[in-house]
Amino acid sequence: MKRKDITIVAGMHGDEPIPVIALASMHIKHIVGNPEALSKNKRFLDSDLNGVFGDPITDKETERAAKLLSLIPDDKPVLDFHSTTSIQEPFVIIIDMKMLPLARKTGLSTIVYLKLNFKAGKTLIDHRDGVVVETGQKLDHNCHNTTLQVLDSIENEKEADNIFLFEVYDKITEPGEYNNFELYDDSFYPVFATKCSYDFIGLKAKREKIK
Ligand SMILES: [Zn+2]
Repeated sequence: MKRKDITIVAGMHGDEPIPVIALASMHIKHIVGNPEALSKNKRFLDSDLNGVFGDPITDKETERAAKLLSLIPDDKPVLDFHSTTSIQEPFVIIIDMKMLPLARKTGLSTIVYLKLNFKAGKTLIDHRDGVVVETGQKLDHNCHNTTLQVLDSIENEKEADNIFLFEVYDKITEPGEYNNFELYDDSFYPVFATKCSYDFIGLKAKREKIK
């Protein structure tokens, strides 16, 4: 797969600048999701941009979401680069199993399948085929390298040696000591647990080794 066959998005959250810098540093064409929030180093101005796609225009982010849908073609997949607060290892998120082949080509070994879609169909990849790439912790320089490595893997169709699919099926409701991607109490694998930017404790996933 070539770069021209995908649309690259970064800076959907204004406090996640490193993938934007990585792409700019290599002169790689991309769309900056939320330039105004990025310029203020804020996650968003009025509402979480990656949770308002398809909403009527009432504030800065709903206006930007509509603009992005007019900029981003619907006939090729999107790679949407992010970084997180709590999870160090990079991973890729899909919300539809039809995107598994693209997720595998990112070269990352951890794929999260959000079968339980907790953002109610309002993220960019609900409106365009594509995957979210979580490149690592927010201001960690590794996010820079991961962004560029993922693009290299996609161009050269390089898969990781081992690939694990974490299928999210429920929310975590009990407070506790959860380590992401590590089996908890012989029952589930936490994903997005603790210190996350969402209004819940974390998500429960099953793990399957697919390669
Ligand atoms: Zn983000």
